[in-house]
Amino acid sequence: MPKTYSKPDSKELELLKLAIKNWHPDLEEAKAKIALVMVGPAVNDAGDVTAPAITGQGVAVAARVGLVSPKRRVYMEYDAEIEIDETVWADFDADKRLALLDHELEHVQVRRDRNNAIARDDDLRPKLRLGADDYMLTGFVAVAKRHGGNALEVISLRSLWDEYGQALFPFAQKLKRRAG
Ligand SMILES: [Zn+2]
Repeated sequence: MPKTYSKPDSKELELLKLAIKNWHPDLEEAKAKIALVMVGPAVNDAGDVTAPAITGQGVAVAARVGLVSPKRRVYMEYDAEIEIDETVWADFDADKRLALLDHELEHVQVRRDRNNAIARDDDLRPKLRLGADDYMLTGFVAVAKRHGGNALEVISLRSLWDEYGQALFPFAQKLKRRAG
């Protein structure tokens, strides 16, 4: 069976609204319309996944966000579209779902004009742009072990730790003690 696409239910739409209200006042002010699409992976007759629901740069990801093109905005009321892997979603509680939605929304930036007003296209829809993640952590444990501090795997994690340490990983102290 190929990938499946379905509408979010009202509870899921409420979470999206909440994430926008709590952390994305720009999107709210711009009245940007964000679509949510639940995606199921492709499966074979035995029920094994043959293609992940969503990929980003070649690897399976939990969710993805894209802008709706100006052409499609002519016949569609949405400005951006978040796709969610419904199998990942099913394992998430509300707090994790909110964090995932917040992540995708963080990519969507509202453009402003010289007067700091929300920039709009001729059709009065808000001008948006997609921002990149602040950081990405991918790599091989084997490479990290072989090269230690020379491996990007370790460098990226270490710089994140040095810069944000306790703020991001308040549990680390406890873990360190337990490991000692
Ligand atoms: Zn991201």
